[in-house]
Amino acid sequence: MRQCFDVIIIGAGIAGCATALALRQQHPHLSVLLLERGNNTPQPFRIGETLPPQAMALFQQLDLLAQFRLRGDLVSLGNRSAWGSSQLSENLFLYSCYGHGWHIDRASFDSWMAQQAEHAGATILHDATITGAPVYDRQHWHLSIQHNDHATRSIEAPVIVDASGMTAFLSRGQHVNRVSHDKLIGIFRYYQNSDASTGDTGNADGDSYTLVESCPYGWWYSAGLPHGRRVIALMTDSDLARTENLLQEAIWRDALLSTQHTCTRFAHAEPLTSLHIKPAHTQQLERPCGQGWYAVGDAASTFDPLSSLGMYKALRHGLLASYAIRDDLLNKTGAREKYQHILNEEFRHYQHMHRQYYSLEQRFANAPFWQRRQHTAASSDSSRNIYDAVMDNGFP
Ligand SMILES: Cc1cc2nc3c(=O)[nH]c(=O)nc-3n(C[C@H](O)[C@H](O)[C@H](O)COP(=O)(O)OP(=O)(O)OC[C@H]3O[C@@H](n4cnc5c(N)ncnc54)[C@H](O)[C@@H]3O)c2cc1C
Repeated sequence: MRQCFDVIIIGAGIAGCATALALRQQHPHLSVLLLERGNNTPQPFRIGETLPPQAMALFQQLDLLAQFRLRGDLVSLGNRSAWGSSQLSENLFLYSCYGHGWHIDRASFDSWMAQQAEHAGATILHDATITGAPVYDRQHWHLSIQHNDHATRSIEAPVIVDASGMTAFLSRGQHVNRVSHDKLIGIFRYYQNSDASTGDTGNADGDSYTLVESCPYGWWYSAGLPHGRRVIALMTDSDLARTENLLQEAIWRDALLSTQHTCTRFAHAEPLTSLHIKPAHTQQLERPCGQGWYAVGDAASTFDPLSSLGMYKALRHGLLASYAIRDDLLNKTGAREKYQHILNEEFRHYQHMHRQYYSLEQRFANAPFWQRRQHTAASSDSSRNIYDAVMDNGFP
């Protein structure tokens, strides 16, 4: 049996769910199917926890703000960073017109987004495997899927959205190149506060801040999470992690102990997990859309976690793609060109801020991690005051 939908979305992460929500809210008659390869049970831990204040404007547009506030995530007041100097400096969200940000339990947040998409009328198939490459006949995409180990079935839609994260599942099949700009990875571990000075929530005062601290291998970040948890991550390049043995727990721990500020965050905390590793390199698809398809979120571009903008971008792309798809379905011209232009400008602006921010750290000029980044910083244009850009867009 063949089933037809108006839009099929690959991946029910934040970008996929935001796209589905925006589509269904604007056009309740559209049938939207989300295919998710993961099962319906939330993972206990998922990386990527700081939601910057400006994300609230997108929640409002998606009609999620009131519901989001009921979740009880941890308030994030801003960032403290030892970057370019061993002294801590503060960037408070207090000065943002959107108020404070949030440290969220990412696994529960992703499930919550999926629930919101379902409430808005989208259908989600968890445990879905796309068997074979999707085929486009210039009018419809044809996919074969297996769901919950049942027999393979065929589905089709005129529009498909690639929201599969960094793997960019669909775009790869379309032979659209992914351009990687570095080899950044995150090596991280979760902790549970054991400090008697924490309040009822299990969180200490400092948990309301993200702490960023540069070091010769890269930089550390740590943040409080709801329910007295913390995450501590070392961001470095994959080849340096291997040569310096930073993937070994004892070596990672020694590196953590050699920090001036970050090490204080695990003094009163018990490890909850072993080390996890995730790619975190900056990457961009050669083009984020084509006839009948759009890429959103990390499938279209990934940002360095230093920016804390990955989730914001995923929400924003969902909204932007919904407008472009509406125009496509109405046979209006120019939707793809507009979408591509906006995403290219977004990436260009991100790269500019990224170079500027890395160029502020000059203490480790002889270390390979920093040499690689100083090279690009020297060639960046400095038309905009870096501090304005940082305040506007959330770099710590
Ligand atoms: C170390 C680290 C720290 C970070 N910290 C932050 C932070 O503090 N703040 C922030 O905003 N961002 C942060 N990020 C980035 C942020 O997590 C991502 O930008 C965000 O998850 C992107 O959302 P997405 O929906 O595009 O992709 P994803 O979250 O990757 O979701 C993709 C979904 O697609 C599914 N999928 C993949 N392939 C298929 C397939 N073939 N079929 C069906 N389903 C498929 C996956 O199972 C997944 O559910 C961090 C990232 C890293 C690595």
